[in-house]
Amino acid sequence: MFAPLPELIDPWRAVEAGAEFRGSLPLSRMPRLRESLRASAGEARFHLAFSRDPEGRGLLHGEIEASLVLTCQRCLEALEFPVLATLDLALVSGLDEAGLLPEDLDPLLVPAEHLRLADLIEDELLLALPQIPRHEPGDCPAGGRGWTSEVAGQPVAEGPHPFAMLGNLKSTR
Ligand SMILES: [Zn+2]
Repeated sequence: MFAPLPELIDPWRAVEAGAEFRGSLPLSRMPRLRESLRASAGEARFHLAFSRDPEGRGLLHGEIEASLVLTCQRCLEALEFPVLATLDLALVSGLDEAGLLPEDLDPLLVPAEHLRLADLIEDELLLALPQIPRHEPGDCPAGGRGWTSEVAGQPVAEGPHPFAMLGNLKSTR
């Protein structure tokens, strides 16, 4: 059971209306994410809420939750990878606006009047993926072989956020 997500929304109207979307989206319908998945069964649950803050900015808050099945790069067995991503985005229509945002808000660039929420959800899941999926040392059927103390227990570095560039622009002002 999942609430149908509109294909395209007008983000600025969603802000005016204080629109909220809640439901789930099958992982099998996320072609870019699917490339990294061992199994595309299951779904991502989401809650997205548009609002306007006292400064008049359009905001998008949300949570996206999914349990992804990846392939451990040590033993090549399945690896269950739970994701809980939270979003705190401010809608901006251009880089100038992005530069004016406070530090705690990431810009969501919406140059057009259309926003595909399914793409946004898929983007957030892609961001949450580890660069090299691996079981915890004790849980890996490949055992301790190949593990060094420097690698074990080290958090996998996150890739750069696509909005990081905007963040840099912001801080140079
Ligand atoms: Zn493993």
